[in-house]
Amino acid sequence: MIEMKGVSKRYDNGVLGLNNIDLRIEQGEFVGIIGLSGAGKSTLIRTINKMIDTTAGELVVNEVDVTQLKGKSLRQFRRQVGMIFQGFNLVTRAKVVTNVLNGFVPDLPFWRVLLGYFTKEEELKALAALDRVGILDKAFTRVDQLSGGQQQRVALARTLAQNPGIILADEPVASLDPVTAAVVMNDFKKINQADNISILINIHHVELALEYCDRIVGIRDGQIVYDGPSDQVTESI
Ligand code: ADP
Ligand code: ADP
Repeated sequence: MIEMKGVSKRYDNGVLGLNNIDLRIEQGEFVGIIGLSGAGKSTLIRTINKMIDTTAGELVVNEVDVTQLKGKSLRQFRRQVGMIFQGFNLVTRAKVVTNVLNGFVPDLPFWRVLLGYFTKEEELKALAALDRVGILDKAFTRVDQLSGGQQQRVALARTLAQNPGIILADEPVASLDPVTAAVVMNDFKKINQADNISILINIHHVELALEYCDRIVGIRDGQIVYDGPSDQVTESI
């Protein structure tokens, strides 16, 4: 469960990225965060795994006070919270399976993965994660040979291999064409339903959010202006 009470984020330049956010997300929810550019979506999602520090309020994730985390406990916490970015953050010149392996052996420097410092069991787990997102046949292909949609599925597999309880996705479909974006959203949906993983996704395509997410949180000027089931969203937002 994610619980925010009165959470604010004031950036060093004085901009209030988040302004007094109250939000509670239960395990297994699939939440789409929508809003215009600059509304605070990215700030919101990045406070949850402490990529961005809050400046006021309470933030508790699975009974852990995120505001107090640092060092080893922060690293352990982040292992339970998968993060997916618009730009995929993959090592494009490496093979798909190598990228996935690096996801769930996070303490292993990438060069060790490249040199094959991982067990057969770990490799099998990586392959299983690729199978789940339908790209097992690309396991030994270099990432830069894949389409954008396939690369985003590699990123998803890498996160899944980490066995997270929560996945945070910051505009994961923004750079994809509409058809591929729908395929990737469908992958998120399947994973959410199969594993009860909570998924929070920043998305500016409102139609996609309404179609695939169960709950919509609308943000404007760092504040929540809408929060409700996606099938009850009206034209007013
Ligand atoms: P969104 O993801 O909805 O586009 P952001 O969370 O990126 O919005 O930004 C929210 C507000 O915070 C914007 O006004 C943005 O300019 C500001 N902001 C974001 N990051 C920084 C930063 N590192 N320093 C100062 N202001 C920032
Ligand atoms: P180490 O420093 O021991 O290698 P990291 O803190 O880099 O460990 O990584 C631990 C886990 O947290 C990895 O799964 C990594 O992908 C993730 N992670 C690290 N930094 C961030 C971050 N800023 N935001 C999101 N996830 C992160």
